[in-house]
Amino acid sequence: MITWHENQDLTAANSFGLPVFAEHFVQVNQLTELVEALEQAEAKQWPVLILGGGSNLVLQPALPGAVIGIAAAGIHLLADDGDNVIVEAGAGENWHQFVRHLLQLGLHGLENLALIPGTVGAAPVQNIGAYGVEIADCLHSVIAYDRHAKSVVQLMAAECQLSYRDSLFKSQQPGRYIIWRVRFNLSTTFAPKLHYGALNQYLSQQGQDQPTPEQLVAAVCSVRASKLPDPATLGNAGSFFENPRVDASVYQALKQQFPDLVAYPEKNGQYKLAAGWLIDQAGWKGHRNGGVGVYDKQALVLVNLGGAEFVELMALAGDISASVKQRFGVSLQMEPRVYP
Ligand code: FAD
Ligand code: NAP
Repeated sequence: MITWHENQDLTAANSFGLPVFAEHFVQVNQLTELVEALEQAEAKQWPVLILGGGSNLVLQPALPGAVIGIAAAGIHLLADDGDNVIVEAGAGENWHQFVRHLLQLGLHGLENLALIPGTVGAAPVQNIGAYGVEIADCLHSVIAYDRHAKSVVQLMAAECQLSYRDSLFKSQQPGRYIIWRVRFNLSTTFAPKLHYGALNQYLSQQGQDQPTPEQLVAAVCSVRASKLPDPATLGNAGSFFENPRVDASVYQALKQQFPDLVAYPEKNGQYKLAAGWLIDQAGWKGHRNGGVGVYDKQALVLVNLGGAEFVELMALAGDISASVKQRFGVSLQMEPRVYP
């Protein structure tokens, strides 16, 4: 039997630290509790927000209807042929702790994704990625509650439609599936991906050109800590904008005009522009306005300088987008979800 909490303060439950109150909130540990909460919300015609660690959300001050916090726990080995292992984790498990747990088990594939905030259940939603690795590289399947069919389903990795920071859950069928457990294909062989410049340089400086798994995770954590703000001390929602993808002709025209442009070729012939570079060049790095600002070490991250409010954050994001559009002709899309 679940208990709803009325007018619940979620300021500490979103990593940006925006002041937020949910009309009705419940945390669910069991699948039966999730189904009960959804049935009650539907009967009362409440809109529903599923909440993990709140690190990829920009929330308005008053959330109507229901917010359901996912706390499904547990990590299990499902199959092991000596080389390949399938591991299942509850959606409510902390992502970084899960990565560390795999390290202890000697299972490889997710090292580059250490220190990403949030939960295991949210990881497939935007196909989290860092330093050249993304969930798509290791996802086996998700076990989810399908709100349309009103039943538990298993979606194999291919059905999850994972693409660059996107998935079935984020853009194709938002709100339909509530991820309850996630299964990963992991390996007992360590085959690290070390091609990202910052990571590579750090490892070289440490004399670790062929790092152990522990050294790789430590390197990822160090590089991240040197460049990205810790939400525990400076509220933020990670990258505020996606890296825009443009056609080769657009890239070439921009590169001619801006020879220092930072961009990377994609497999489909397009180019990925580093949004942080565009924002920096437009003069925003270190900008401060009231309670919000642009992080001084990575312009892609907007930060809560103290007392940030939703309206001023969205105004800053709008001003940044407009100036990047004016200078480079490129449109920026927000990465975190704005709710409602
Ligand atoms: P939430 O913010 O709670 O939710 C995000 C979205 O997923 C919402 O739409 C929510 O409704 C939905 N959702 C959550 N749980 C479930 C579920 N069980 N079932 C269905 N839907 C669900 N992202 C990267 O990709 N790479 C990075 O390197 C990275 N670094 C970051 C660094 C910092 C400092 C911060 C603050 C964020 C970073 N992020 C990064 C973004 C964020 O951490 C990830 O997107 C993370 O997966 C969000 O997890 P969460 O549990 O906090 O999700
Ligand atoms: P960075 O290493 O300074 O790189 C800047 C941008 O260039 C990144 O967006 C990255 O794209 C791209 N890039 C760098 N080297 C690349 C290569 N060898 N091949 C292809 N693309 C390359 O970025 P950072 O800000 O310090 O972040 C480090 C990593 O953590 C990045 O992968 C970033 O995506 C991830 N991160 C994500 C979030 C988030 O909220 N989404 C927040 C913090 C960090 P990609 O973004 O595609 O990797």
